[in-house]
Amino acid sequence: MTPALDILDRFERLGWKGNDPMSQMLELRREQPTILGELVTLFLDRALPTNTFIDAALDLMDDDTYSQLVGHAWQRVRQGERSRALIEILEGAALQLPSLFHDDWELVLQLSVESHVKFHQPFLQAWRELDEETVLDWCRHFEDFASLAERDRDRAIAILLSRHEPSARKALSLLSTDPDDDVQDLLLVAGYALDDGVLRSLHNEAPHHIRFDSRQWRLMQAQQPEWIREIRDNQASWQPAATNGSAVVMGGVAAHPCGLCHQPLHRLLRIAEPRNLGIACETDLELATCLSCETWEEDILFFRHDRDGRPIPHPSQQRKEAQTSRFPAEPLLEAEAHLFAAPRRWERQDWGASNNRQNLSRVGGAPSWVQTPSYPDCPDCEKPMPFIAQFDSGLPQSDESEWLWGSGGCSYAFWCPDCRISAHFWQCT
Ligand SMILES: [Zn+2]
Ligand SMILES: [Zn+2]
Repeated sequence: MTPALDILDRFERLGWKGNDPMSQMLELRREQPTILGELVTLFLDRALPTNTFIDAALDLMDDDTYSQLVGHAWQRVRQGERSRALIEILEGAALQLPSLFHDDWELVLQLSVESHVKFHQPFLQAWRELDEETVLDWCRHFEDFASLAERDRDRAIAILLSRHEPSARKALSLLSTDPDDDVQDLLLVAGYALDDGVLRSLHNEAPHHIRFDSRQWRLMQAQQPEWIREIRDNQASWQPAATNGSAVVMGGVAAHPCGLCHQPLHRLLRIAEPRNLGIACETDLELATCLSCETWEEDILFFRHDRDGRPIPHPSQQRKEAQTSRFPAEPLLEAEAHLFAAPRRWERQDWGASNNRQNLSRVGGAPSWVQTPSYPDCPDCEKPMPFIAQFDSGLPQSDESEWLWGSGGCSYAFWCPDCRISAHFWQCT
């Protein structure tokens, strides 16, 4: 019996009782990383519900093995086979390798209907790879309908999510005629604002992961169980292949005090030349918040930025008398981290699917929402603010404790380039 078969036999017999398939999978990877492809393929042959050790194996798989595996799963689904495990693997591919679906977008549409996928599901992420030829073909189809048939409505949603202009705009106007559709929700899922009839993107497509410095990393790893440490040590979103990234200062306190509790603001990240990262800002940009007040005392904290890019609390959030915060917090550990272009496979990430194994702390790209998508309106120009960064829980603080956003969620940063205003809030489960 092969080692991969042995793991699955034991799992089928015992489950997790007196059995540790996660450790067995990790041991297998240490000996022969490519065998993880065989493990998951064999898993698909059995009618087993999906499991965390399989999810972890997928996160650890090298790109070639992953590409072969999802290609195999896609062929099986194209031949009519259906199982929860197969569909879940393809949902993962919608995030990590959406080009997989190039040969049959109609089937993706069919699967979306079958699995009742509508909003906020990773499967929707596949549409960003929808090719222009199919978009135009589907758009031609629309002309024949006075009102949208059910399948055409799904096609229009797919085209909106493909972000191909001007077809996305056309799809939006078709969807807007349907009173049953919540077009506003769809727009936010697609990452768009509608300004005077023009679609404006609310995020860029150039995500950069934060690579933490050695002291941050040691503390972050110390907070995790051994098996998570091993996964993170070998997972591409934490461990970029490139050796040079741009340096960023993290942690410590900022120059100005919080407008609510009057304690020093907590620095998240200071970025030199943010324009190089696709952020519309001509000066340096310092992102800071008040860990004690963000979302606890005000849903969203807003800051105006001075000529050096330093944040000053927005006048609407400056109190004469200091508020006592219910949860006073230490600043984040001061550190010199680096930003690396996210590997192609990890450009889009789902907060739930990451499950603590992937690095979600990023500058740019599309946000990984914990809850429903939400872009704040700029307090000065009142337009929705583009997303520019997210920070996951587990960041080390100056007293070496672990910072959690609420119960362990994620904080999001936004930037209005016209008004030079940043905004911060977090979501958790
Ligand atoms: Zn505060
Ligand atoms: Zn503004």
